[in-house]
Amino acid sequence: MIRTRSRNTTLTSELVREPGGFGLGQIVSSRKPDAITSMICGFCSTGCSVDVHIKDGTAVSLTPTTAYPVNLGMACPKGWEALSPLRSPDRATTPLWRDGHGRMHPIGWDAAVSIFVERFRSIIATHGPNSVAFISTGQIPTEEMAFLGALTKFGMGFVHGDGNTRQCMATSVVAYKQCFGFDAPPYTYADFEESDAIVLIGSNLCIAHPIMWERVCRNPHSPKIVVVDPRLTETAVSATQHLQITPKSDLPLLYAVAHVLIEKDWIDWEFISAHTNGFEEFKAHVADFTPDRVSELTGLGVDEIEGFARTIHEGTRVSFWWTMGVNQSHEATRTAQAIINLAIMTGNIGRPGTGANSITGQCNAMGSRLFSNTTGLFGGRDFTNESDRNEVGEILGIDPACIPDRPSLAYDQIIEGVVSGRIKGLWIIATNTAHSWIDQNSLRSALSGLEMLVVQDMYATTDTAQLADLVLPAAGWGEKEGTFINSERRVGVIKNVSPAPGNAIADFSIFRMIADSWGCGDMFAEWTSPEAVFGILKRLSKGRPCDMTGMADYVTIDAAGGMQWPYPADATRTGPLESERRLFADGHFYHADGRARFVFEHPRPVAEPANVDHPLVLLTGRASTSQWHTGTRTSKSAILRSLSEEQPYIEISPIDAAKRSVETGEWVVISSARGSMRARVIVTSTVQDGTVFVPMHYVGTNQLTNPSFDPYSRQPSYKHGAVEVRRAGWRDK
Ligand code: SF4
Repeated sequence: MIRTRSRNTTLTSELVREPGGFGLGQIVSSRKPDAITSMICGFCSTGCSVDVHIKDGTAVSLTPTTAYPVNLGMACPKGWEALSPLRSPDRATTPLWRDGHGRMHPIGWDAAVSIFVERFRSIIATHGPNSVAFISTGQIPTEEMAFLGALTKFGMGFVHGDGNTRQCMATSVVAYKQCFGFDAPPYTYADFEESDAIVLIGSNLCIAHPIMWERVCRNPHSPKIVVVDPRLTETAVSATQHLQITPKSDLPLLYAVAHVLIEKDWIDWEFISAHTNGFEEFKAHVADFTPDRVSELTGLGVDEIEGFARTIHEGTRVSFWWTMGVNQSHEATRTAQAIINLAIMTGNIGRPGTGANSITGQCNAMGSRLFSNTTGLFGGRDFTNESDRNEVGEILGIDPACIPDRPSLAYDQIIEGVVSGRIKGLWIIATNTAHSWIDQNSLRSALSGLEMLVVQDMYATTDTAQLADLVLPAAGWGEKEGTFINSERRVGVIKNVSPAPGNAIADFSIFRMIADSWGCGDMFAEWTSPEAVFGILKRLSKGRPCDMTGMADYVTIDAAGGMQWPYPADATRTGPLESERRLFADGHFYHADGRARFVFEHPRPVAEPANVDHPLVLLTGRASTSQWHTGTRTSKSAILRSLSEEQPYIEISPIDAAKRSVETGEWVVISSARGSMRARVIVTSTVQDGTVFVPMHYVGTNQLTNPSFDPYSRQPSYKHGAVEVRRAGWRDK
């Protein structure tokens, strides 16, 4: 009874429910549950809801929630298999401490917390507060990341801490702040179904966000779908128009489209004049970006560029969507803003089916952006702003002098601090830095040189945990409570439906123990439970664009099918429309004058062009709906492993394969100026001549990637580097 949809591997619960039970064999247990409760999936930012079936006090199976406004009864394979990683035999079940001979030994929580506090206190006392940092995550609930950010920065004296959201969403944060005045993705998922033209830039939605792609497939308006991507992705195959650009030529392309729209007077003068600033300067800027000139840069025909502009003009409800192909770039922020510029110059914002819409990555990246207290102060405030610090101090009942008056170093700057020896103590929570960070070789040797590396994770076997001095075993999704915020700003609840193994405990409880042991527990007297912290976050959001004061409690949020911010206390829910809300319907943006800004800049060359030694451009990306990032959890599921390619592979064009005398199935060595990896060849026309594609999920991929960063968002440029491919000398039988 499982039906696999044609363009991805989404499964629909309506199709698998059977009278009196569930018919999915190993996916859904046939044991009749004692209870069923719904909660948000813990992988991607889509924020689907799943109904968890509980037997004898523990989760035994799950099915997608049919009535939830996000997924409407659908889930991708990761969602269906979300319980499997909890049962993996390599769960960390007790704290581990490395002895003088490099061996890890189990220790108790009291000893672990004492070691943690003693070591970090000692480093700070000797080298100052700049010598320690933490790296957080978009994978834990908002309440936990808020506790971590407050504990470290207000209680323990840390200045530096960033999240792995730097790797996926920092660009959108900066782009929105500069253009709209606040980090505010304006859309609701209903917009996928309302548009008559959908523009996807650097987004393989079908694979990376399969349920969002399902929403596109449900669109009744036969929308035109434009895909801008250097690779013929699964999404591009289904597009009305695929613009297969030269890698990293998206910024000039977007400026050329703006040029055509202006030249043909296909713009919304009324909206521009009433609601924006900087258009005349932008118009002058794009005057040089003629289709003729940009045709050479992008490898597209003039007719293709003009056709793209015509699609925007002819659409009455055009939505623009972007994700990592834009965000992970050397000029990511300006590219995202070039997309925003197209939306606001054509009046495609604030109406159903429109918007300049960044699609988030992780399940709680949006929570991290607003409440992790890393590079931004709680609620989208600034550490450098005295009145913001005073306001937060007053809300939390703490002395504002405890709040750092400077922002944290960004992730790459923290790593640079580790490499240079300035940072000596690092606490990594729920992220696999040693696998996911760019230019992995230099990172790993730097981590090995730390005086103290603490890794807090569900598993002691991650690439990063294996380098740790101290491992703190954490409960995972399904073993604790809290809230996530999804891509469309919807707050949803996660629940404790399964006991954590051994002595593993919720991150929240770990932070609580450390606060007490550090001696700052009194500062967090009110931070007694995730729901108590949610109440604090509501106060921190009051009067802000992300106001959540109308979200009474977890039960209310759950019953409502999640709630999108802003949801101020005076809001009233009046029906279905209320559960699908978009921003800027009144044309009012968050800058003091209420206007959006055109932001632009001349394109810059890539950091590492293809060259004689490394003549191929490396593209990386998500390659399967069945694997999540470094596979820390998804690789634990036999079903998910069987649905994806376990062996690393490389896509290479027929011409480039012939030049190197390599064939499909053969093993090759891929090398860059930084390292190398082995992979199996797939000769395919999905990649252009001169480019190759390697999925991001394999541990070797970031041996190759080039550590260049967008100057405004500090987001790593995973999507462009120079490599060479040569035969390894053997092939699979
Ligand atoms: Fe939905 Fe994402 Fe979970 Fe898949 S991984 S079920 S798309 S939230």
